[in-house]
Amino acid sequence: MFTFHSIPTYHASLQSGSATCREAVEFYLERIAAKKRLNAYINLYGEEALQRADELDGRRKAGLPTGRLHGVVIGIKDVICYQGHPVSASSKILQPFQSLYNATAVEYLLQEEAIILGHLNCDEFAMGSTNENSAYGPVLNALDETRVPGGSSGGSAVAVQAGLCMVSLGSDTGGSVRQPADFCGIIGLKPSYGKVSRYGLIAYASSFDQIGVFGTLVDDVSLVLDVISGPDEYDSTLVPNREMPLPEIPNHGKEPLYRIAYFREALDHKGLDPEIRSAVLTLLEKLQAAGHTVQGIDFEYLDYIVPAYYVLTTAEASSNLSRFDGVKYGHRTQKKGLNLADFYSQSRSEGFGKEVKRRILLGTFVLSAGYYDAYFTKAQQVRKTLTSHTELIFNDFDIILLPTSPSTAFKIGEKMNDPISMYLADIYTVYANLVGIPGISLPLFSHSNGMPFGIQAMSRRFNEVSLLQFSDLLMQQYKSYENPTL
Ligand code: GLN
Repeated sequence: MFTFHSIPTYHASLQSGSATCREAVEFYLERIAAKKRLNAYINLYGEEALQRADELDGRRKAGLPTGRLHGVVIGIKDVICYQGHPVSASSKILQPFQSLYNATAVEYLLQEEAIILGHLNCDEFAMGSTNENSAYGPVLNALDETRVPGGSSGGSAVAVQAGLCMVSLGSDTGGSVRQPADFCGIIGLKPSYGKVSRYGLIAYASSFDQIGVFGTLVDDVSLVLDVISGPDEYDSTLVPNREMPLPEIPNHGKEPLYRIAYFREALDHKGLDPEIRSAVLTLLEKLQAAGHTVQGIDFEYLDYIVPAYYVLTTAEASSNLSRFDGVKYGHRTQKKGLNLADFYSQSRSEGFGKEVKRRILLGTFVLSAGYYDAYFTKAQQVRKTLTSHTELIFNDFDIILLPTSPSTAFKIGEKMNDPISMYLADIYTVYANLVGIPGISLPLFSHSNGMPFGIQAMSRRFNEVSLLQFSDLLMQQYKSYENPTL
């Protein structure tokens, strides 16, 4: 039977003839059918994937050169455009829209011969932390089906967690790749802002959004990142080839030694689960004992980051989502005899879900003439201050370590009636998006409640190489969690 361990071992078995791309696709299609109740995929392109697998098998057997992601079976979040395929941001308002072009990230995947198996469920317009705000219903956490997988890229996380594809793409505006990775016991990487093109990614908050990668191994995630992060003239915020030179990390002839900072306020926070706190502290002690420099630093801005994030992202969302008006595309009200304003309002009221409406209202409010300075300008100032402060931190440190989330996966329904408490749980992830640095969640630990949880590492902007090297070290030497569903 087909089994997947890593992209390089899969490629070796293709080359030796002990596996084929077709077998891989068939394996995933069977597994997806058996795990349908998890609700991870909302659109499956099985026939097409099998056809592409046959083509790839034929080309390889004919001795033609193979792409870097030859036959790699990938699922993509339902906010990423794939030409000729439906995409809806898990919202009623876009159905039955079909993408007219490929997102640049998808274009790069296809160029390197990946097989895209389907679109994955998520919170509507990527707004949420549980995947419960989806027009297709919630996704279940495969480790405990009474719990959420996290969000908004819940389907992308569960697809990797439950072995329904090899790697997947999500998007991360305030933690939507790292937090579900944390809840599901897998790796989730959010690249630096400007690393991966946003062309063909349905926008939530354009100055925060990045496409990110889920996988089970650092090497696989690194390879996919490398493939999707090429240049693109369609995204002017992209900063191509900006890999920073590797910092001088002393290694004394052995492993590199890192300068690691953590925020004292983050670990002292009253909302942090005590077991997560003690696991992080123990890890920090072990890293110090291994010769790394570990230092707690003061970070007095912690209580401002969630409010600043929600002011700025809802403002951007209210503007980005104004294009969904029932005229250009997507859902249009069937009610007759409405004037134009009522027609817009009726179509939008029918098409958008509750959380999206809440954010459009909030964003419109913070941008309104009387409140603009008090909220929007203030939040921008917070963002600027955080960015300058972060530069100073990285003058002295290579890595910032934080928990990914203050708790393990919530129970389904637990947070749905309390949006503020749901927003506050983003406390450790929104920072990286506010300042544009890369962040990764690594599944190192398990909790006494049986659920996994991760640690979040961040590095200087565009320093993905050292972030991934550090991640590899943590995964090799400090991981005490094994995913039983794979
Ligand atoms: N949970 C955050 C929110 O609801 C993050 C969303 C995201 O990263 N797309 O805004």
